Amino acid sequence: METKSVTLSWNITGQCPERCGYCFGGLGKDTLTKEDHFKIADKIIADQVDEVAIAGGEPMMLEHLPELIKYLHDGGIKNIRLNTGSGLRHTGIFHRFGLYQKILPYLSQVSIPFEGGTRESERKIRGSQENGANIFDEIQTVTNAGVGCVINTCVHKQNIWNQIHSMNNLVKMGEYLTHLENNFGLKIDKWSLRQFFPVQGAGAKNIEQFDISTDEYRQAVKEVIEAFPNLNIEPREIEDFQRMYLMLDKEANLFRARDGNNITLGNVLHENISIRQIAETEQIQERI
Ligand code: SF4
Repeated sequence: METKSVTLSWNITGQCPERCGYCFGGLGKDTLTKEDHFKIADKIIADQVDEVAIAGGEPMMLEHLPELIKYLHDGGIKNIRLNTGSGLRHTGIFHRFGLYQKILPYLSQVSIPFEGGTRESERKIRGSQENGANIFDEIQTVTNAGVGCVINTCVHKQNIWNQIHSMNNLVKMGEYLTHLENNFGLKIDKWSLRQFFPVQGAGAKNIEQFDISTDEYRQAVKEVIEAFPNLNIEPREIEDFQRMYLMLDKEANLFRARDGNNITLGNVLHENISIRQIAETEQIQERI
């Protein structure tokens, strides 16, 4: 069996303007400084981590994000992904630092959230206060810059069944993405359908509202894959998260998920540990 290199998911900040009920990010006050973030970047460069996914919270809340991303890129980290939750949709964040224009040249991929087949359901699920771009504008901004665009959907009770239109919401979302590709020529690299993962944060508190069984998840994903052979759909089950991702929290703790719990493996800022070696010891890898 072949394996692909490790992705380090760096949840760099706990700041986020959204309050999604399914969130598994560690939201809250940041304790690390800009200098700390650059020390962590030095560690990532020294270990030549193959792919870094910068997530949050909302990473675009950090003013020094462009400088940090360029630093990683210039240090030889060529696969840098930005997992933005809301950065483009909140005009306040988008315009505050002109962030996107500064960041895009150094990114290999941007991952954009898409949680409902209609604007009402998107807002209902995300509790969103967004006031700026919609998913169309986001995809266009990213793809026009020649950067790969991944659409990220958390599959849970609320979007398997759309309570507003009494139809399978994922199907409605697939129809919309197909419409964007066919009628506007927008190129979507991947539609990632990840299983709701109640490991921490709001998601862990709202299990009743969002949790689905793995069988329900598989059935929903199967229906969507069959309905939309044109879309490159990537299923991500809880087990995939546990096996494939090494995560770094906003306090620089390196951890992984195992048996539904977070296992801390060391602190990148305060301990002399090798991210690459830990990934190998923990056998974190993607089978392909
Ligand atoms: S899921 Fe993402 S956008 Fe929503 S609250 Fe959590 S970090 Fe913010």
